[in-house]
Amino acid sequence: MELRTLSTLAAKTLKRAGMWAAALAIGVGVVAGDVAAQQTAPSPGSAKALFGAVALPTTGSTQSVGYYAKGCLAGGEALPTDGPTWQAMRLSRNRRWGNPEMIALLERLSHDAAQYDGWPGLLVGDISQPRGGPMFNGHASHQVGLDADVWLTPMPPRTLTAEEREALPFTTMLQKNKFLTVDPNVWTTAHARLLMRAASYPQVERIFVNPAIKKKMCDSWTGDRSNLGKLRPEYGHDSHFHIRLRCPPGAITCKPQAPVAAGDGCDKSLAWWFTKEPWAPPPKPKPNAKPVKPRETMVSDLPKACAAVLAAPSVASVREATFGYDTATPAAATAMAPVVPVSGFQPQATLPDAGPIPALRPSSN
Ligand SMILES: [Zn+2]
Repeated sequence: MELRTLSTLAAKTLKRAGMWAAALAIGVGVVAGDVAAQQTAPSPGSAKALFGAVALPTTGSTQSVGYYAKGCLAGGEALPTDGPTWQAMRLSRNRRWGNPEMIALLERLSHDAAQYDGWPGLLVGDISQPRGGPMFNGHASHQVGLDADVWLTPMPPRTLTAEEREALPFTTMLQKNKFLTVDPNVWTTAHARLLMRAASYPQVERIFVNPAIKKKMCDSWTGDRSNLGKLRPEYGHDSHFHIRLRCPPGAITCKPQAPVAAGDGCDKSLAWWFTKEPWAPPPKPKPNAKPVKPRETMVSDLPKACAAVLAAPSVASVREATFGYDTATPAAATAMAPVVPVSGFQPQATLPDAGPIPALRPSSN
């Protein structure tokens, strides 16, 4: 069946079944069964608590250790808070750390998108914690410095204040009262060009976007489609996209993900998102089944080297670990300014990263 027909059909069915609201709720990325969902702080001694408490990266060479969703980062570098074509957001979270390959990619993308794609600059969200590792809130992955979130909001033509970087609301690309549909009043061709620019770099292996955005790209992208398959439909990701780099060459401690299947991805793997299945509530447990108690990830659950990463000495300062932005330019002065917590300010809900993961989820992601 053609995707368009299928999606209309699915939308009708979902509405009838009263599941449309559930689909929206899941769409904003509540992580079902995640311990963090029920907690207000990470359990003492858990990997989230320990990695979240470290303010600076390790000294020494860079290593992305383990897998995107189970690992850590040695020798992380920070994206400067400001560059000519980017601004880092939500600075209080201290998650602008990454493998230098990722930091360089973000700088390059921001430059190229501004120069060629009519996208004035990037608002960069979470990359990783200073030493990677699991995060208390917001993400299952982003643990090895090779994942980064970029807003689908263009950078404003002025330097945002620290408060604005905390408070600026996310803008969804989806139409409010329709099932999985991109809002034509918000979405522009520059959004499409930005995504395809990001997908064009060989070191970028995947880009996660909302299924509605993937469908929009499938239906409307008339340029070279050879990198379109890198855009992977995923829960949430309607106000930001998520860039994932492949393991850098020679990074033996980095565990690679299976490559994306050949083709543009405008196929069954996309059509599935427009069926009922991804939005169905999880099956009820059997009456006599023992309730499964969620357990927090401990450092011992991560690759062995991550305990050493956690214990290793820190670099002397954020400045020392900030990636190569020209410090001779005046903007660099603000770029390196210490981040002062904003008093009385409640940070926004975190960017949703992954929703419930159905058993039959396509493995291609
Ligand atoms: Zn992400």
